[in-house]
Amino acid sequence: MPSQTHLKRPWLRYGVLAAALIACVVFSFWSPFTSSAPSGPDEADQTVPAAVKEPTAPVPSKRVDSGGAHANAPSDGGYAGVPYAKLSRFLGRLSQLPHYDEDRAARYLNYYGSTRYTDEQIVRLVNTDNDLVLFSDAVPAYADDGVLMLVNKYHEMADYEPDDLTDLPAGYASWGALRKEACEAYIAMADAAEAAGCPIFCNSPYRSYKMQQGIYNDYVNRHSLELADTYSARPGFSEHQTGLCVDITADDVEYTEFDQSDAFRWMQAHAHEYGYILRYGEGMEYITGYIYEPWHYRYVGVQAAAYIRSHDLTLEEYYYYFVAGGETPA
Ligand SMILES: [Zn+2]
Repeated sequence: MPSQTHLKRPWLRYGVLAAALIACVVFSFWSPFTSSAPSGPDEADQTVPAAVKEPTAPVPSKRVDSGGAHANAPSDGGYAGVPYAKLSRFLGRLSQLPHYDEDRAARYLNYYGSTRYTDEQIVRLVNTDNDLVLFSDAVPAYADDGVLMLVNKYHEMADYEPDDLTDLPAGYASWGALRKEACEAYIAMADAAEAAGCPIFCNSPYRSYKMQQGIYNDYVNRHSLELADTYSARPGFSEHQTGLCVDITADDVEYTEFDQSDAFRWMQAHAHEYGYILRYGEGMEYITGYIYEPWHYRYVGVQAAAYIRSHDLTLEEYYYYFVAGGETPA
């Protein structure tokens, strides 16, 4: 009947269209596999990518006691009971980073699972002994290291006094002296800063053991031992006692806001040309042991200053790798 065929035809037409569409969709998904399906063992080797192998490293069987509670103590419960394969992969990951030290593997492991430090920070802080106990694990600082002498909360110098202290001329500082080489470099740097229209002024150079004792005790009395240790050095642990560092101010700012000044920006760009580095950089407290001090500069000589700056290192790292560690700067 004409009316019935008329009704059936649209249904058939849509049915055929739908079937064709489904076939297209199925084919388009299927075809890449069928067309690239390997036909023999040789071709299979070329088309199936090899599994990406995660780096691993040997896990030392002996654990190392991290020494108890202090600023950088691992706070995530250690790694007891963690399977060997996981620890091995953790060390494998760290071993891909610069300066990974196999001899310190057991100490890196103390930071397994840390949420506080990144892999890179773990390597950097253990390499610079910042996992040890502050002050009580300190070793003597070596004056024989000259202008690269390292003094921090792990390297103390007792009542050391440099033998070539040279007075800073009036106009460069309100008082005091520096070691000869650092003094000459400071004068050249201050002259250049002045010529560039960003004069700097030294308001604290060499400080003796006795002077530091007075300053530190005053801070402890005013605040607390814990707080004083974050911004002031204990006598025998102050870098100012080396005669190699300066606290700097600029005309228009308080010294604590030195990083707001043009003089600071000039120092950022040029201090290394005179052998000086910003010693306690922003975000580096876990290595240097001190909060960010934009005013505190340390003389290390032109070569070390340029390297430290261009590689974004701390003096601690430069010292461990290239002074004590015997590596040659690349
Ligand atoms: Zn200082």
